[in-house]
Amino acid sequence: MGASKKIIAGNWKMNGTKQDAWALVNQILEAFEGGEKPNFRMIICPPFTLLPQVVDMAEGYLVDVGAQDVNDHESGAYTGEISAPMLADIGAKYAIVGHSERRAYYGETSTFVAKKAAAAIAAKITPIICMGETLAEKESGKAIDVITKQFAESIPEGATADNIIIAYEPVWAIGTGKSATVSDIVEVHSAIKALAEKRFGTRAVPVLYGGSVKPSNAPEIFSIADVDGALIGGASLVAADFLGIAKAA
Ligand code: PEP
Repeated sequence: MGASKKIIAGNWKMNGTKQDAWALVNQILEAFEGGEKPNFRMIICPPFTLLPQVVDMAEGYLVDVGAQDVNDHESGAYTGEISAPMLADIGAKYAIVGHSERRAYYGETSTFVAKKAAAAIAAKITPIICMGETLAEKESGKAIDVITKQFAESIPEGATADNIIIAYEPVWAIGTGKSATVSDIVEVHSAIKALAEKRFGTRAVPVLYGGSVKPSNAPEIFSIADVDGALIGGASLVAADFLGIAKAA
């Protein structure tokens, strides 16, 4: 997977009706009409209920669709869950795993995240593996240690530089309006690239930054050499903001 085109991934979280998705996706797709090939790869991650609709709408456009989570099993007695083969069946190509909200509210550990990522890879779904430190961890100077541990434990055997995407999302920057500074991002992204080089023999694993990305701070964030794109929460629900970020890519 070449990291030359920036990846612009939107995480809608638990938001949206069929009608909301219809309006938002149409506004986003309008930007792709009649223009040149975009300079970025766009991924939209709506809730499970809207996945088939968004996959249908995005067909024929250079926009891919992903889920926000995936179960670690292929099928069976796991009430309420959705498996990677099910995602592949409806045309999703990506699945976010290990988002900090799932780690914090649903007790997901890095080991569990690795199982989900492995299940995704087995079904040819690219996992977007999230990692990031809390404010307390950052303030006690442990950010790089936390990331090193999450990298080791959340990325499964069988992962390669081509079949995963990593998202660095400092927990304190998600949904707070307070993005990490350029020097924070430079430090952690270069640490992640160094870990990738050690593990995969290449730095060419896409590493996205996530945490209060908006059109106003996107140019600065995308100018950082080790940033291969962004994972965007709040701003992905507003077409003008999401497209404004993509334009900065
Ligand atoms: C996210 O949920 O992954 C995220 C980065 O959210 P926000 O952009 O709203 O901070």
